[in-house]
Amino acid sequence: MKKLLAWPLVAALFLSGATAFAQGMIADKYRAEMLPRFVSYVQIDSMSDNRAEWMTPGQEKMAQFLYDEIKAFGFPTYFSKDKYIYVNIPSNLKTRKAPKLGLSAHYDTTPDIIGNGVKPQVIKNYDGNPIVLKNNHVINFKSDPYLKNMIGKTIVTSDGTTNLGADDKAGLTIIVTLLQTLAENPKMPHGPIDIVLTPNEDVGRSAERLELEYYHPDYAYDFDGGVNGEVVIANFSADRVVVTAQGVNGHQSYAADNGYLNSVKPIADLIAVAVPTKFLPNHSRGDQGYLEPHHIEYDPVKNTHMVDCRLRYFDPEEGKRYLQGIQHTADSLQQVLGTKITVEITKQYENVAYGVKPEALGLLTAAMKEAGVTPKTQKERAGTTSAMIMAKHGFGGYTVFTGQNNPHAFTEWLSEEDMFKAYKVALNLVKQVAQMNATK
Ligand SMILES: [Zn+2]
Repeated sequence: MKKLLAWPLVAALFLSGATAFAQGMIADKYRAEMLPRFVSYVQIDSMSDNRAEWMTPGQEKMAQFLYDEIKAFGFPTYFSKDKYIYVNIPSNLKTRKAPKLGLSAHYDTTPDIIGNGVKPQVIKNYDGNPIVLKNNHVINFKSDPYLKNMIGKTIVTSDGTTNLGADDKAGLTIIVTLLQTLAENPKMPHGPIDIVLTPNEDVGRSAERLELEYYHPDYAYDFDGGVNGEVVIANFSADRVVVTAQGVNGHQSYAADNGYLNSVKPIADLIAVAVPTKFLPNHSRGDQGYLEPHHIEYDPVKNTHMVDCRLRYFDPEEGKRYLQGIQHTADSLQQVLGTKITVEITKQYENVAYGVKPEALGLLTAAMKEAGVTPKTQKERAGTTSAMIMAKHGFGGYTVFTGQNNPHAFTEWLSEEDMFKAYKVALNLVKQVAQMNATK
């Protein structure tokens, strides 16, 4: 009797061990696919542009390339008119329902630095010497202490005339290789999975035309982070604050009588009063926010001056204090100077920490540990797709490492090993979420 009872336990242990073993074998099998895939992606020009109405021709080409590749895997795939690529994989679990996993990455590269015409250089078995690129750009241990871990490993750089675009073509490589894995191993158990590949992340617009019908997971993970184990669990809330002062036309010489008013002075006063030097970004570190008057514009037709400010904070109370200071100063100046001063606030991105389910970090931690990765959680003084989705649609997600280093620089480089580890993390996330039971 005893023996009989023990059997199912032994069998279960054996089977779960076998599954883990098989999954490790599967992961290794796809490693060789990743580097060529990454190298092909970075050679497609896909810089975004702040001035574009929506997207650049390069991004359109990149999107089409990805869509053609992904569609061939056979999952329900939707290419939206705004060029988001969605994949909605139905669950293959027979007897129960699991929650929905969501994975995202962006296919544009930053407009801040030349990123078209990338000539990737693959360095295998890195020897530890400084890597000298064109135009005197050098990657070495001093500028990049993390590089010390790459001796004997494979890294990828540009030739120095452009950035590399590992931000976020590493993320794309991870997700597309995961899709390939799921397509070629249909017996691997998984719950429902939503995937979205977006344009325009580097111009802050990756969530703008997102269609929730095709991407609305219970647990969202954005593959757009840095090196081995890094996870962004919180980020700045970001508001754009525009203060506009109305001038009054007339001749200066008779201003004492004709009501003439130049709108420079109210804006200058507002900045002087509401933005003391200690509020500026160069006085802000760690958890502190900042308020930066970013630029001033004059509109001769409307006869207005406006100051465009960037407000960033982790603590909502701190954000509220800055905003109250601006509003109060604007109101007082309006009274004293007798001219109209308006304050307009636009939410740009939001702290993902307000919109993630409590289990989301545990799932990711388990997936990382299983891939032999130690999670290093951090608060990011910036925002990514997750933060833009949080601001627009109210659900957050964590940003996971991809192996990208020095984004937005000529010295950007990729760790092939970290990219592969991140793929294993994604694969393990599929498994972790599939083991849960859906609550709805
Ligand atoms: Zn990115």
